[in-house]
Amino acid sequence: MKGTIFNIKKYAIHDGPGIRTTIFLKGCPLSCPWCHNPEGLRQGPEFLGKDLLRSGGGRVVKTGIIGREVDVAAVMGDIEKDRIFYDESGGGATFSGGEPLFQAAFLRALLAACREREIHTAVDTSGYAPPEVFSEILAAADLFLYDLKVMDPARHLELTGVPNPWILENLKALDGSGKPALLRFPAIPGMTDAPDNIAAVAAFVRDLKSIREVSILPYHRTAQGKYRKLGAADRMGGAEAPSPAVIDRIRDGFASYGFTVTVGG
Ligand code: SF4
Repeated sequence: MKGTIFNIKKYAIHDGPGIRTTIFLKGCPLSCPWCHNPEGLRQGPEFLGKDLLRSGGGRVVKTGIIGREVDVAAVMGDIEKDRIFYDESGGGATFSGGEPLFQAAFLRALLAACREREIHTAVDTSGYAPPEVFSEILAAADLFLYDLKVMDPARHLELTGVPNPWILENLKALDGSGKPALLRFPAIPGMTDAPDNIAAVAAFVRDLKSIREVSILPYHRTAQGKYRKLGAADRMGGAEAPSPAVIDRIRDGFASYGFTVTVGG
């Protein structure tokens, strides 16, 4: 079984408990303007150009390829190298992207290989997949880091390019399974941070049974260089990271619904 990845991050400490190895699967059906991994959006390998601002003349100079096809054994070889750190810290392997559910068969095979070796797994996902696909991944993984961005269906479609019913249905299934999950809310200026969206997200999650922790992920501009290297448009229009006052407002909004709230990670 083969799939396409675009990065493996060792010693990750923000992608689930303990020290982890994070594998980034390439390809995502969403197109969030704030995406900080634009090199993970297309499924296949692609050229990464020189920084347009430095190369001048509006020309992208092709300098390398991002993304590679790998088999399960190769990925497991990388994961297993750091087993001692997982054992000592309560860590494991995290599958991120892109959207890891987009390569569901490959993801399933990786999760099964980790389970065979008793390595803890986490899936970092937007939740966008057909429910029958999600239920297979749900059974195979130990923990979910689940993004919930926008509740209004039309606004979700407008911002991300996909509707949100699968995302909400899969989140309910995750909650019903009793499997550990951390909800993550991207705080994006002018897109997700309106008080009515925060209230709607909090109200939806409050009605679930087991998710009681929300992690706020503030927008940051660090991906702008990647957009230039890919020759892709930055659709954030120069937006700045949310101010501490805005983050406090969002944190208070979730806390008022009884959630434990953290910022980042
Ligand atoms: S779902 Fe995640 S990886 Fe996909 S476009 Fe949105 S932010 Fe990027």
